[in-house]
Amino acid sequence: MKPFAYEQAADAAGAVALLGRAPDGARYLAGGTNLVDLMKLEVETPELLVDVRDLGTAIEETDGGGLRIGAGVTNSALAADARVRERYPLLAQSVLAGASGQLRNVATVGGNLLQRTRCAYFQDVSKPCNKRRPGSGCPAREGDHRNLAVLGHSEACVATHPSDMAVALAALEAQVHVTGPRGERSIPIPGLHRLPGDEPQRDTVLAPGELIVAVELAPLVMAGRARYRKVRDRASYAFAVVSVAVAVELDGGTVRDCRIAFGGLAHVPWRAGRAEDALLGATAGEEAFGAAADAELAAAEPLRDNAFKVPLARNLLVSTLAEVCS
Ligand SMILES: Cc1cc2nc3c(=O)[nH]c(=O)nc-3n(C[C@H](O)[C@H](O)[C@H](O)COP(=O)(O)OP(=O)(O)OC[C@H]3O[C@@H](n4cnc5c(N)ncnc54)[C@H](O)[C@@H]3O)c2cc1C
Ligand code: SF4
Repeated sequence: MKPFAYEQAADAAGAVALLGRAPDGARYLAGGTNLVDLMKLEVETPELLVDVRDLGTAIEETDGGGLRIGAGVTNSALAADARVRERYPLLAQSVLAGASGQLRNVATVGGNLLQRTRCAYFQDVSKPCNKRRPGSGCPAREGDHRNLAVLGHSEACVATHPSDMAVALAALEAQVHVTGPRGERSIPIPGLHRLPGDEPQRDTVLAPGELIVAVELAPLVMAGRARYRKVRDRASYAFAVVSVAVAVELDGGTVRDCRIAFGGLAHVPWRAGRAEDALLGATAGEEAFGAAADAELAAAEPLRDNAFKVPLARNLLVSTLAEVCS
């Protein structure tokens, strides 16, 4: 690991100011469970770490009846919060489906959203990778891509976003509050993460130096019929091959409202707008669920070794909808 300087920020404004001292070579440090691993591999070589782990560690009620979750809340604290479990069960389920108990005890909300892809070439500095070294190529396209994207990928990059929590937050239409050198703003999820296009080195729309301060959730009327399900190669300690976050509101047997987002399929948590449109007003049942999945997955462009993800995603969505609508 390359030597680096370390500073602890007293507050958000102080963190932004500290990071500004070395804008090209500084990183915010939260739990460190992703960043420090990447530093050991020399994928990340910051000269300065600004520790923000102790900033924003509360979960608070909002005036509108939702919750504001500080960026420094640990994944364990988030999943254990009684309000989250009761009012946003799919969020608690998504967090508990990720990593391990030990990791969740230190990993934070802000760090989870901004964790980098697990593409093997990205993590190996001896290999080319457009995301790590723009213009160097994408060996995954012809190489090992079994667990990479089938939706929204580009010639430049076929990586997937690894966060489970981000998929639930995409279905919940969370707002991410950030502060930075140019002031404060809010960014919706989906909208924080970006498709790779020809700039795969940019995972998100965040500007240099911007700090995630909190994530805000509006009330979810569909909480009673909400679920996060994840398919993975091992029962724990494994990233999603495919996952889905679903919330449905029924009026009798008819779908009045729904939210659907996929994980493991794209460079972003994938909000399934076409599936939602197909489901609205339909009679809840296997036929409508299958048609909704097909409407979304018609856009899939699988690579040589990951075509299996398309029927897997279809089956996962159909069975999850059947479960929440039963
Ligand atoms: C073995 C293993 C298995 C895992 N399995 C899963 C899994 O199944 N599902 C899953 O979702 N995750 C999984 N993870 C990833 C884990 O969830 C992330 O490493 C963790 O959430 C990152 O949070 P952190 O606080 O440690 O972030 P850090 O490692 O500290 O930071 C990650 C990135 O976010 C930036 N950052 C951190 N906080 C802020 C902020 N407030 N504002 C702006 N930038 C910030 C950092 O600069 C860095 O670039 C796994 C990790 C490991 C090691
Ligand atoms: S898929 Fe993206 S992260 Fe993986 S090698 Fe290609 S450019 Fe790099």
